[in-house]
Amino acid sequence: MLPGALVLLSAGQDSATCLAWALSRYERVETIGFFYGQRHAVEMSRRGPVRDAVAPIRPDWSARLGGDLVVDISGYGALAESALTGDRAIEMARNGLPSTFVPGRNLVFLAVAAAHAYRLGVGVLVGGMCETDYSGYPDCRRDTLDAMQTALTLGLGETMQVKTPLMHLSKAQTWALAHDLGGDALVDVILEQSHTCYEGDRRHRHDWGYGCGACPACALRAKGWAQWREGRPA
Ligand code: ZN
Repeated sequence: MLPGALVLLSAGQDSATCLAWALSRYERVETIGFFYGQRHAVEMSRRGPVRDAVAPIRPDWSARLGGDLVVDISGYGALAESALTGDRAIEMARNGLPSTFVPGRNLVFLAVAAAHAYRLGVGVLVGGMCETDYSGYPDCRRDTLDAMQTALTLGLGETMQVKTPLMHLSKAQTWALAHDLGGDALVDVILEQSHTCYEGDRRHRHDWGYGCGACPACALRAKGWAQWREGRPA
């Protein structure tokens, strides 16, 4: 077993899978979450249930899961106004990025997480960033994260790795990874407890989990689920 890791946990499908990935590899796993003024508190409210439901899937996971920290960076959220944090509709902006893009979000998350990890004595950050299915967010690219890893290591004077196990996976392959890590039990936990929908909808339950069924995050999740269930990962 490797020593410790700090997982950036938003309680979406991706970070819930990353939590299980870290619990299967590291002897001590802590989590961190960020409040940055999200329009919907739903995602933040799912973090505890995801942690509580993933850990008992395997006895060794329960023993490895450590503490959780929520950091309020709503000042940054106000600065980086977008469809996720403000009242603007989800639409494509002139630069080709969807208006759900919060500029530099992952860089801010990683810098804050690295400070916490440093104080915990943990040298690995784990995040669900992914180049494959995403909408070209430049801070989700592995090149960006390699540069950030170098900057953090130099700036802290300690090695700080940034692990992104989902980087090159499709959403279907992410469901498959969850199944490999924790079987049907983990897939069920992600379906029931995780939250991805941009509209914060927990009233409508689909075969792929809860959500409005219409926003881009729901569409991506539903498509990945259907492809995985059909046994032909994209
Ligand atoms: Zn939705």
